[in-house]
Amino acid sequence: MTDGVMRHLYIHVPFCARRCSYCDFAISVRQDTPVGSYVESLRLELDRLDTSGWALDTIYLGGGTPSRLDESVGDVLRLVRDRAAISTDAEITIEANPDDVTHSVADAWVRDGVNRISLGSQSFEPKVLEWMHRTHSADQIGRAFATLRQAGIDNISLDLIFALPESLNRDWAADVDQVLGLHPEHLSLYGLTVEPHTPLSRWIDRGDVDEAPEERYESDFMLAHQRLGAAGFEHYEVSNFALPGRRSRHNSSYWTGASYVGIGPSAHSFDGAIRSWNVVAYTDWMRRLDSGYTIVAEAETLTGENRLSERVYLGLRTIDGLRATDAEIQLARPWQDAGWAEIRNGTIVLTATGFLRLDALAASLTLAGSR
Ligand code: SF4
Repeated sequence: MTDGVMRHLYIHVPFCARRCSYCDFAISVRQDTPVGSYVESLRLELDRLDTSGWALDTIYLGGGTPSRLDESVGDVLRLVRDRAAISTDAEITIEANPDDVTHSVADAWVRDGVNRISLGSQSFEPKVLEWMHRTHSADQIGRAFATLRQAGIDNISLDLIFALPESLNRDWAADVDQVLGLHPEHLSLYGLTVEPHTPLSRWIDRGDVDEAPEERYESDFMLAHQRLGAAGFEHYEVSNFALPGRRSRHNSSYWTGASYVGIGPSAHSFDGAIRSWNVVAYTDWMRRLDSGYTIVAEAETLTGENRLSERVYLGLRTIDGLRATDAEIQLARPWQDAGWAEIRNGTIVLTATGFLRLDALAASLTLAGSR
């Protein structure tokens, strides 16, 4: 918050109808979403914050499944509007699952100022969706997309997951083509990772399924990079692609190290010096708000070493690149020879094959800088 103004707000909505097989997010699995008590708890949290310095350019409702709030998304946005300035061209995004999108709900979201939707699709193959324990069908993705367009949403992002186990015989190229056929403005692609305590990790422990080999990850990633590039998408961040002018403004704020405030259970905040995060469990967060206790689980002040590694890691993960020191440029010269990076005007910009090695490349610069 270098100029004293808070421009980015994240609101965590923890509810999901069921847990996807790969998911370890901070969620609360509920058949019936307790909308009233959730909105009341958000009100209590907002009342604890000094919002006088907020001039919001982006608001992002993430989860969980924010679309489980249905038309009450408007109640959440009104809580914010009643307390904070929001710029007239603010990007207001909600994450939605296809099975929650109806005409009346989409119309209500637009009326309440939502202008960007991140639609969780993951795959168009019925057997894959079933394996992932997704709550929606393949057909519902296209229907939800059309419904959102009819409601007037002209900025839609879709998510797909790649690098699935070989035994699923997933046709990744077909999924990429299907998603392109919908003509979204933005795409987020994530490689499947095996997190502890998920159904997927249990299946792997039991030997029911094997993780995809590294080569599968690389070939899926490069196929998407090439096809989406040919369709006019800019691969602007390691996992994100956008048509010109359609990058996610909210997520870009994280990647440029801007300050942000997060509300809701498990939400993180960063004021430029201190990072803090709320307690994870929904009921814990709610009860603490009710009884006047702190909801901050922990806070840390960034050390010099933290700042160095964040500067390097955040810089390398987008095509805006890392504004580098002379020493860093010397270290990156071999990456250029290997085709992993380009060095332009003192900036190191990773290529797609460089993105595949992001962690290792960032670690080598960080290690050298901390010596
Ligand atoms: S919908 Fe999203 S947050 Fe909810 S269980 Fe599935 S992956 Fe996790």
